[in-house]
Amino acid sequence: MSVARPVIFRNGLVLTMDDTHTVLTGADVLAVDGRIAAIGHHLTAPDDAEEIDASGGIVMPGMIDTHRHLWQTAMRGYGADWTLTQYFVWYYLESGRHFRPEDIHAGNLLGAVEALDAGVTTTVDWSHGLQTPQHADAAVDALEAVPGRFVLAYGNIQQGPWEWSASDGFRDFHRRRIDGGRLEGFQLAFDVTGDPAFPEKAAFEVARELGVPVTTHAGVWGATNDDGIRLMYENGFMTPGTVYVHAATLSADSYHRIAATGGSVSVSTESEQSAGQGYPPTWALRRYGVPVSLSMDSSVWWSGDLFTAMRTTLSADRSREHLEAHAKQETVTHHHLRAEQVVDWATRGGAKALGLDSRLGALTVGRQADIVLIKNDASPAMFPILHPYGHVAFQAQRGDVHTVVVGGTVVKRDGRLVGVDLAAARAGVDSTVSYLRETLGEEAWLRGQNPDLPQAELFDNPYQYTDYGSGSHE
Ligand SMILES: [Zn+2]
Repeated sequence: MSVARPVIFRNGLVLTMDDTHTVLTGADVLAVDGRIAAIGHHLTAPDDAEEIDASGGIVMPGMIDTHRHLWQTAMRGYGADWTLTQYFVWYYLESGRHFRPEDIHAGNLLGAVEALDAGVTTTVDWSHGLQTPQHADAAVDALEAVPGRFVLAYGNIQQGPWEWSASDGFRDFHRRRIDGGRLEGFQLAFDVTGDPAFPEKAAFEVARELGVPVTTHAGVWGATNDDGIRLMYENGFMTPGTVYVHAATLSADSYHRIAATGGSVSVSTESEQSAGQGYPPTWALRRYGVPVSLSMDSSVWWSGDLFTAMRTTLSADRSREHLEAHAKQETVTHHHLRAEQVVDWATRGGAKALGLDSRLGALTVGRQADIVLIKNDASPAMFPILHPYGHVAFQAQRGDVHTVVVGGTVVKRDGRLVGVDLAAARAGVDSTVSYLRETLGEEAWLRGQNPDLPQAELFDNPYQYTDYGSGSHE
């Protein structure tokens, strides 16, 4: 990779997300040779440095999403009204299984670009549609074409993990594309069903042999539960670096096991609220000391930006806290979850979950220069900035992402992506959508996005409206 010219952000409100969450006002951040070189006031920059005016804006670390099924971005928004039940039908029986390598590529390319555009500089591509090594090659080709950081979480939901992880094709792919490749990391992605025979053991052994972490949808209502956690624990596979996605319907015992073994939970609040995995668990996790990162899960349903993740996570946590108190006739006077904490989860939390905390997740000298400037002088929502963490979590949105720097390279400048061929990404997705519509047929295509509406109960209303004002009631 060619070394970019130095970049300096001038006069910004800087959220470092360092160990003490240092906040600097009117400060500069200098990136040289891909790393943070200095943070402070009135810094001297090299002559050839690109100057970026950060006044009126917030400078923060690039955000980190620990669980996103990028391939599904090819069908963005299609599943807006789904529950998990419709998702499984779509995935196993309808569109999902029809995805060809080029469709994986199309979804990954658009999703990867979308993440970067929204200030997410590191994304775990939870890629569980890799039906063949050709699909996996296509996934990586797309990720490598986008100037962000990506961790490939390899999965194939059409087979048991003990099958695909043992295949020659998988081994060959790993040798060709991962060892010494350009990705930021590699994980094995599969779920543990709780089958007492624990067939997933073989896949855990492959992960151990390769020295890579496992990421797993755990505590998903109706799909995975405490049995999976217990089997992992009893067989010695709950290790540091394991990422438990959702973890929304687990017992205290499972949360204790996760905390004790150094794992973390990737919370996808928008997903959990809508699909039915269980209540977004942050309100419970804090009592067990389980580390948290944030994720968006899938753009086939929801948004693909971590502003929304921060916002919904704060809201869900507080909503639950109030409800629990009201059930006991009590009043919450002070929230446990603060805006500062969700900004930490969206940056530092992700870096820790992925074992990348020494390199990413904060603006400190020596770390990789993954920097986001949130600034929009045309937006009435961008001033005043009084509570910087609250501003990030509740006021800002992806359209306010002004500049994005990855490893010292400017990949978005003045609100426009740099060196990204959006037209090509659009063309790829267009052809995937046409192919899927044709393959499924128009009737199935429409049925897939319009699930049956259950009958709603309407209570009898004892009141009648009487318009006394008009005199017409006589
Ligand atoms: Zn998921």
